[in-house]
Amino acid sequence: MAFDFDLFVIGAGSGGVRAARFSASFGARVAVAESRYLGGTCVNVGCVPKKLLVYGAHYSEDFEQAHGFGWSADAPKFDWPTLIANKNREIERLNGIYRNLLVNSGVTLLEGHARIVDPHKVEINGKTYSAEHILVATGGWPQVPDIPGKELAITSNEAFFLKDLPRRVLVVGGGYIAVEFASIFNGMGAQTVQSYRGPLFLRGFDLGVREHLRDELVKKGIDLRMNTEVARIDKRADGSLAATCKDGSVIETDCVFYATGRRPMLDNLGLENTGVKLREDGFIEVDDEYRTAEPSILALGDVIGRVPLTPVALAEGMAVARRLFRPNEYRKVDYKLIPTAVFSLPNIGTVGLTTEEAREAGYEVQLFESRFRPMKLTLTESQERTLMKVIVDAQTDRVLGVHMVGPEAGEIVQGLAVALKAGATKAVFDDTIGIHPTAAEEFVTMR
Ligand code: FAD
Ligand code: NDP
Repeated sequence: MAFDFDLFVIGAGSGGVRAARFSASFGARVAVAESRYLGGTCVNVGCVPKKLLVYGAHYSEDFEQAHGFGWSADAPKFDWPTLIANKNREIERLNGIYRNLLVNSGVTLLEGHARIVDPHKVEINGKTYSAEHILVATGGWPQVPDIPGKELAITSNEAFFLKDLPRRVLVVGGGYIAVEFASIFNGMGAQTVQSYRGPLFLRGFDLGVREHLRDELVKKGIDLRMNTEVARIDKRADGSLAATCKDGSVIETDCVFYATGRRPMLDNLGLENTGVKLREDGFIEVDDEYRTAEPSILALGDVIGRVPLTPVALAEGMAVARRLFRPNEYRKVDYKLIPTAVFSLPNIGTVGLTTEEAREAGYEVQLFESRFRPMKLTLTESQERTLMKVIVDAQTDRVLGVHMVGPEAGEIVQGLAVALKAGATKAVFDDTIGIHPTAAEEFVTMR
């Protein structure tokens, strides 16, 4: 049977664009459908605008700290609409780059909502196209618990387009997005409360890291309410909001921001017309080569709920393109030692096992830890402290994990991730000469 395309990709986000571009460059006839924005979540309402807001939020500290270095200036003023307008312009520029990338690599771009009508056919804008393979790369969507007043809350999708900076914000959740946005709002000058249902946020990260970040966020003025679950949200006559918690406490605020996880984006996708199976948690079930239960349909990225990070979606996209159209170059994605950062202020950077995971896995753990006031802050009034941890297998001397809370933690840990991938031992860290004076050198001087 002759198909219109060799590959039909649904979703022009991180994973979809990567798979589409490279498949086309390998000679395949490829179409990609996008209903909302080129570049997907990361470019439009994720990593990129988030990082720009984090940079923006850090200026409040920079202005304060500049005094210690002899600088004085009139009280700095912050204008949220200017930041948002500039951010929007930058995102539009990136959308254009994504459009060119796709078009220049020979991919047919179809803008509209795509729906699968049978295992080899996709309908979009009233037309039906056939394809040998269909790749579902539709990403995720914020999920808000079903509580009275949930329609009064916003999520990250809306936060990036708020007209004004709220005077007071309640951030609900304890994952990446909640912690990052609590830092953003607080840095911009909003009175920020963050509530989390458990005893300590960032479940799954190293305990020492979580405790250190908690203490730093409190020092910066974020009102952290752990073991707190919002039960309802009400609007007051003056337009402000009241979040009533299960323990009876009421948090008065102007904006309730929910960051309580993301669900797979499967809305009106037509999966019922296929044999694709979902996992119990609703994400698409795939094998280790991204094949769904329907032989012609593949899926990757956030919609498979494995590791919802952009570089992982990119690697999966590359793997799919190679497996289908350059099988001799195919390599499986290695999910071990994926480095990650939380862009809170200060940042977390981490790769490898946490102390708790290493102990649970039965390693005889040797722990190296350093806490210090970064040199950049010594002339300032800031009391921020940096934490660095190296977790070593005492039997083999192999470094199992590296964790940092402090400025540029993501930048520093990226390099160390290469060392861990190469199987570095603590002796290799010790043999490495530091770059002085840096904070990063601490990682090679811990004894
Ligand atoms: P997406 O990028 O979500 O792309 C899916 C695309 O499919 C979307 O453009 C959507 O419009 C389209 N689509 C959906 N359904 C259809 C349909 N039926 N027809 C046509 N098109 C459709 N990751 C990091 O690594 N670092 C970060 O700093 C980071 N920060 C983040 C901050 C926030 C606030 C959020 C929400 C996420 C962040 N992430 C970050 C995660 C990252 O954005 C995702 O892991 C990544 O975008 C997943 O890529 P994807 O290709 O699976 O899906
Ligand atoms: P996460 O899965 O990271 O965190 C969700 C948080 O919401 C958890 O603290 C969870 O609590 C809590 N939660 C879940 N359900 C409820 C509920 N019903 N009531 C109250 N709290 C609830 O999701 P995010 O939305 O923060 O981010 C999604 C993903 O996007 C991340 O996992 C990450 O992979 C990616 N991302 C990456 C970033 C980066 O690389 N810097 C930045 C932002 C996002 P509990 O722990 O108790 O389950």
